[in-house]
Amino acid sequence: MSVAEAHADTSKGCIDIRNTGVTFGSDESEIVAVKEVSINVQPGEFVSLIGPSGCGKSTLLSIVAGFVKPTRGEALLDGKKITKPGSDRGVVFQQYSLFPWLSVRKNVEFGLKMAGVDQNRRNATARSLLDLAGLLSFENHYPDQLSGGMKQRIGIVRALATSPQVLLMDEPFGALDTQTRVVMQEILTNIWQQFRISVLFITHDIEESIFLSDRIYVMTARPGRIKAEIKVPLPRPRTPEMTDTPEFMNLVQELKGLIREESLAAMAPEIKDRGLSGFGMKVGPKGVGELY
Ligand code: ADP
Ligand code: MG
Repeated sequence: MSVAEAHADTSKGCIDIRNTGVTFGSDESEIVAVKEVSINVQPGEFVSLIGPSGCGKSTLLSIVAGFVKPTRGEALLDGKKITKPGSDRGVVFQQYSLFPWLSVRKNVEFGLKMAGVDQNRRNATARSLLDLAGLLSFENHYPDQLSGGMKQRIGIVRALATSPQVLLMDEPFGALDTQTRVVMQEILTNIWQQFRISVLFITHDIEESIFLSDRIYVMTARPGRIKAEIKVPLPRPRTPEMTDTPEFMNLVQELKGLIREESLAAMAPEIKDRGLSGFGMKVGPKGVGELY
């Protein structure tokens, strides 16, 4: 049985965020980060959350991770209320959170060591995961010796090592250059198909969300609410060629329209009131350059 088959439990990994709101601070300094959100991820489903900066995406992911308690509502994993972090949820952040003093293999083994798994099993699991990510020959390297893409691949397999039911990813490819990012997206879809676990993925990249997801939730500007839910009917496995198809491009257009409205709303009130066209230039009696 492969390491991926050992992980696969297709009945688990249901995330249910119900009528959830988050307010930070109190009185004058109060910030409503999330207004009222209900979203779900079904077992084995890949779901993205997309929306303008500051709309509460990371806050929602942190609730599912167990790092933040909602002010209102609740988040459930397989029907059980989430109250703290746990090894049933793997988390990958944008910042590479590898331990610089541990080798690549020891980084992957870390969660298993904490869970009390013996040295031989730790070693075998870490090595097969590194093999899957094409990084076995780097097992004795240290994070400093690796590229950003490699570090993030290690971050992903490390999050998978403890056999979580869900993978929570907060803009994991945000710091990578475009080429590396595209390769990482393909690697992630391959790994995800083998493990068949649920993924909640945060991004502000429209193409990335379509390429990876079964479904996409679009959030409004802060305070965040769900503005739209888009199904992505593209077949699996996803390939880079698909991004040139009319189906893909139509989805890009649809999402661009939705996000543009929210990005405008998130900007200064004067832009919001007048619309972006209010900042167009026109040729007036005094020549070009009059702002109207
Ligand atoms: P996103 O990930 O969509 O960019 P976040 O969830 O990080 O948005 O943040 C949503 C809003 O909540 C922002 O205005 C942010 O400044 C605020 N916020 C996030 N975390 C905290 C915190 N721990 N304390 C106070 N305000 C916070
Ligand atoms: Mg964020």
